[in-house]
Amino acid sequence: MQIVTRDPATGAELGRYPAHDDDAIERALAETAATAVAWAATPLPERLALLRTVGKILTERRAQYAALITAEMGKPLAESLAEIDKCAWNCEVVADLAPEWLADRPIDSGAARSWVSYEPLGVIFAVMPWNFPFWQVLRFACAALAAGNAAVLKHSPDVTGCALAIEELFESLQPGIFRALVIDAERVPETCARIVADRRIAAVTLTGSERAGLAIAAAAGAALKKAVLELGGSDPFVVLADADLGGAAEAAARSRFGNAGQSCVSAKRFIVVEPVADAFVAALLGATKSVSIGPLARADLRDTVIRQIEETVAAGAKLLAGGGTGTPGYFVEPTILDHVTPGMTAFAEETFGPVAAIIRARDDDHAIALANDTDFGLGASVWGEPEHALAVGRRIRSGALFVNAPVASDPRLPFGGTGRSGYGRELSAEGVREFTNVRTIVAG
Ligand code: NDP
Repeated sequence: MQIVTRDPATGAELGRYPAHDDDAIERALAETAATAVAWAATPLPERLALLRTVGKILTERRAQYAALITAEMGKPLAESLAEIDKCAWNCEVVADLAPEWLADRPIDSGAARSWVSYEPLGVIFAVMPWNFPFWQVLRFACAALAAGNAAVLKHSPDVTGCALAIEELFESLQPGIFRALVIDAERVPETCARIVADRRIAAVTLTGSERAGLAIAAAAGAALKKAVLELGGSDPFVVLADADLGGAAEAAARSRFGNAGQSCVSAKRFIVVEPVADAFVAALLGATKSVSIGPLARADLRDTVIRQIEETVAAGAKLLAGGGTGTPGYFVEPTILDHVTPGMTAFAEETFGPVAAIIRARDDDHAIALANDTDFGLGASVWGEPEHALAVGRRIRSGALFVNAPVASDPRLPFGGTGRSGYGRELSAEGVREFTNVRTIVAG
């Protein structure tokens, strides 16, 4: 069985990779398990020195790695370079701050000494998607390795070249600390469930769709393993009557159309109060004119987005811009749908592509009700006079609230969702501690 990667801009074949057989998977598990034992006993400064070196190499090879990202999943080169730079920055931030995040935490319990110690778990199994092929992996790997664990990756087959490049980078520095598995596409669910259940795997982390999250969470539950799930979102971007409409519209276009809309924390539902709705829509149309995006990552992802647009228009929404495709690759034009209402496809489903759905709200209370009318709960962005916007934002259920700024991940801040957007946190102290045994020690 071979994995075939394709250039989303043309559909042309890029590479063929043989899938790992059971023996190769067994070797990867055995090697990472052995390395995890030694790595857990390695002093924290040495572990963090490895991350600094990884960061330096990422910077040295930024052009090479960025070209690989662009070739395999289609984003413009400038966005791929920014992704690599963010990965390198993450390495530095974790190396700088992990001593604080992982330090013993003394607690006065009446005993002579008592404290919390953050200890490694073992090998972490990660299932990752194609949308940020380096960032999603480095985000979890830096946390897992800093905490003293080893890692096994099952990446999206669409970005197998990226997966193997990241493995080669870690292998060249610390053999056995990070292994990438290329899994036969026909056997992904059962092979991943078997890996999750393997005694050598301590915990699992997944970024991807609800469907994949359900499968991995079920496997983790059946094996009594800890899981961190970072799933989809249908993030609200709320524009209040006292918002800076020009700034909000610029940010809206960047948030919705960056990465061709293929981001879990893209703004997806633009909930605008009536008095400023026409002016905001005009400003968003203006900001969208200068947007230039790449293709979507796969033909089926493009087809899903086109279906969502067509169903929403058929249900009564107004198509103000875009809606078309481009050939020969998997292109979708930046699209704006106005007068979207609850129940329409672009409101009810996650739109993982360049589709802005405008929903008009009567007032603040209605805007909040619309924002909360979803089972997802990843990020929320609210625009208006700062205290007013903060008060409105606090009434919206989400894992992150950004006031007068688009939602974005930052290595210094925890990242994750509520409801069907998943559970657990990545990044920052909370993210590193997800991959630890939070151990209570009482010493007389
Ligand atoms: P998937 O969720 O299917 O893919 C993400 C990862 O999960 C891939 O490595 C995939 O591997 C793996 N996976 C899927 N099913 C299983 C399973 N049963 N057991 C183990 N691993 C599994 O996303 P798609 O690529 O199909 O994209 C579909 C939709 O998912 C998007 O339109 C978007 O809505 C959402 N998504 C959200 C992301 C986010 O950042 N939150 C990222 C990517 C997608 P394989 O491909 O080999 O099945």
